[in-house]
Amino acid sequence: MNKWVYTFGEVAEAEKNAGSWDNVRGLLGGKGANLAEMTRIGIPVPPGFTVTTESCLAYLEAGNEFPAGLWDQELEAIKATEESTGKKFGDATNPLLLSCRSGAKISMPGMMDTVLNIGMNDKVAESMVELTGDERFVYDAYRRLVQMFGSVVLGVDDEAYEEEALDTYKEEKKYASDTDMTAADWKAVTELFKVATTEAGFEFPQDAFEQVKKATEAVFSSWNIKRAIDYRNAAGISHDLGTAVNVQTMVFGNMENSGTGVAFTRNPSTGEKKVWGEYLMNAQGEDVVAGIRNANEIDEMKNDLPEGYAKFMEICEKLEQHYSEMQDVEFTIEDGKLWMLQTRNGKRTAMAAVKVAVDMANEGMITKEEAIKRVAPDQVDTLLHPQFVAESKAAANQFASGVNASPGAAVGRVYFTADLAESKAKEEGQDVIMVRPFTKPDDVHGMLAAKGILTSEGGATSHAAVVARQFGIPCVVGASSVRINMEAKTFTAGDVTVSEGDWISVDGTTGEVFLGTVDAVAPSLEEQTDLLILLDWADEIAATEGVRVAKAEGYPTKGLQVWANADYPEDARRARAYGAQGIGLCRTEHMFFEPERLPIVQKMILAGDDVKVRQESLDKLLPYQRADFDGLFEAMSGYPVIIRLIDPPLHEFMPDERELLEAVIAGRIKGEDVAEKEALLADIEVLHESNPMMGLRGVRLSVMMPEIVSMQVRAIFEAAADVKLRGFEPHPEVMIPLTGHVNELHFIQPKLEEIAADVMKAKGVEFTYKFGTMIEIPRAGLTADEIAKTAEFFSFGTNDLTQFTFGYSRDDAERNFLVKYVEDGILPVNPFQTIDRPGVGQFMDITVAKGRAARPELECGICGEHGGDPSSIDWCHQIGLNYVSCSPFRVPIARLAAGHAALEHRA
Ligand code: PEP
Ligand code: MG
Repeated sequence: MNKWVYTFGEVAEAEKNAGSWDNVRGLLGGKGANLAEMTRIGIPVPPGFTVTTESCLAYLEAGNEFPAGLWDQELEAIKATEESTGKKFGDATNPLLLSCRSGAKISMPGMMDTVLNIGMNDKVAESMVELTGDERFVYDAYRRLVQMFGSVVLGVDDEAYEEEALDTYKEEKKYASDTDMTAADWKAVTELFKVATTEAGFEFPQDAFEQVKKATEAVFSSWNIKRAIDYRNAAGISHDLGTAVNVQTMVFGNMENSGTGVAFTRNPSTGEKKVWGEYLMNAQGEDVVAGIRNANEIDEMKNDLPEGYAKFMEICEKLEQHYSEMQDVEFTIEDGKLWMLQTRNGKRTAMAAVKVAVDMANEGMITKEEAIKRVAPDQVDTLLHPQFVAESKAAANQFASGVNASPGAAVGRVYFTADLAESKAKEEGQDVIMVRPFTKPDDVHGMLAAKGILTSEGGATSHAAVVARQFGIPCVVGASSVRINMEAKTFTAGDVTVSEGDWISVDGTTGEVFLGTVDAVAPSLEEQTDLLILLDWADEIAATEGVRVAKAEGYPTKGLQVWANADYPEDARRARAYGAQGIGLCRTEHMFFEPERLPIVQKMILAGDDVKVRQESLDKLLPYQRADFDGLFEAMSGYPVIIRLIDPPLHEFMPDERELLEAVIAGRIKGEDVAEKEALLADIEVLHESNPMMGLRGVRLSVMMPEIVSMQVRAIFEAAADVKLRGFEPHPEVMIPLTGHVNELHFIQPKLEEIAADVMKAKGVEFTYKFGTMIEIPRAGLTADEIAKTAEFFSFGTNDLTQFTFGYSRDDAERNFLVKYVEDGILPVNPFQTIDRPGVGQFMDITVAKGRAARPELECGICGEHGGDPSSIDWCHQIGLNYVSCSPFRVPIARLAAGHAALEHRA
């Protein structure tokens, strides 16, 4: 015979039958399992039993029929409960009252049904009045049962009780609130409620057993009510689990010398090790949760209910020790005696999660590994960036939304051009939000001066997104409802119009945009001592020799290292302070956009076949680049620094073709001399490409104009030599972007290696260095064995690799279709944010294997935007990368994620 019912005392049997604690939770539900467990360890729990989730599933499966044996077992369990309490169910002399509550494996707060005070009827009520001497209490309890039974079990509309019966009664009596109601009033209302039930076509049953049976059925059925289904869909909970039903002796906090409360064993906001919660004297549990009356802080209970308080503190300690986790508990004190009604792991803020995990490890309650696992990498994000205060955000007008490109909260005034954004910020000290359709490299000065960035186009790897993330500027991109009118200096979204200078608030963590100012709080990493400790522990795990199984020769046996993408010495210093162990990507072209350099770069580009002019320009750029690299090597002394040679199409360095054309036309109309502008326009037109992302960029540019990268390599090695001579330890790694064919490397790399050797010889210093390539083009991955013979390292540029593997334009896809693809489930996630494992991810896996087969010691890493994404980091660990590289601000998240991956896949 199937066992459908377990008393709280039968937890050992449940464990034996279910096989594991997780299965016990599956069978008895989280609440039932914990009530049984508390009973086992001697904590006072009102006696009762759990009807299993299997019963629920069998009941629903059979078209709402109790499975054979269930009712008999429930009757037996009621008998056992009578024996434990010395009371009798449905009996007038010494009545036992029961509650009937849902409880699924995974908590679904408030989604399913509950019936309280089961077992009351007219006779029981009368005798309870004699027993307790408190008629008001008794009829208040009875009318609650009649109402709950009617609405939950029989499906009578709550309005029939609340508005129609009770409110009318109170109006007639001219009562302002329930506290005005006397015993006689509640008794009268109980009768009115019974009439309301009858009028709805039902009868309130006087038979206690019929009550409990029907209540059990109602809880079973509530598994499939709409709000429960919606909740499971939203929370990703399976619909096949079913709910258990917990039937438990009622205890009453709404009497003399009684009370009820909810508490956390530690502070759920800060993590402080101090019981935190609220209680109410003379009240029922719902009253605390519903906030009907102002509850008192738990500390005050020492005075009101001293014995109960002492016992409660003792139990909190015991529960924490037992579960090795912060608990969220509910209790009732009935006439001075404490009863625990629920315990579960407490939900907490990110800050509390970190503190509780570190404290518990230091207290010896959990291991360091467990502490690491208890904090999700995404939680770290909220600790590093300014965040909007929840209440302030809730009150604000959210009028647009887009892709959450760079986390954090920003509040400022709207400006539509980079120059204005910069001047308002720098000269007038204004907080600025730069709003653009999209951004370009020559907007960077405005972006850097802004508190936040909003664009109407582009996606997670658009220029705005990449730069914002790199510099830790909150940013929302691709807010497609935003229509910018540059002439009117306004933008609209829906029916809201925002003018230049107006305040808006941008939430880069969620992608929301608000009108006006929203309050924010700003943390700093240095102050977060607990987080720093936790990250050190994560590093320790990842750095453990043997933590990873090597798939083949050359694969790492330690976990992932975390490096950073940094272009400037200041970013490198920040990255190092945040724990980066190398630079995985320095995008050298960003340096070409500095105002004093751009004209030289443009002259170099426009030199055409004039090698002399080109070389002159490059000679002028060399000292700038050397100084940039010098600072980087010094900041990262002892660590590898990967410097990528010039990558973008050259037109990006030139004035905008359309704007220039407009200027030429306007000039002609006004009769100005536009010859120079016309000549420039003609030059720019020559550079025009239909598909610049697939055009003359990356290594192709080096093949066509080797002078540029020759200058860059000279600058790299001269800087490294100088830094070495000053006593630092430079480890340059030169990275060639966008390789598709090994012959491209054959063409350019030997020339560059020769320059490196020349410089070292001339300077008279030696240091280790590498030449390697980015893997961004599918063909490079497929021929990785060939490429690895020349390249000493691979770095996956997963932005371009995703673009070229899917055939999605990284600048347009999100705006045009990708957001819908993700919303409609055509794609599970945005592949520009999280690596698409079956496609791009598999491709990376194959590439690493092929590459290492040719060169076992091949260093493999990732420097696309995915390098800071926890799920992608897990994948990078699995396929045997040596490191992930991400923006300095994401380094802490990546360190924790690397620790998680090491633990998750530990050898
Ligand atoms: C990439 O493609 O992933 C990459 C890092 O290069 P970029 O984003 O500069 O093209
Ligand atoms: Mg790229």
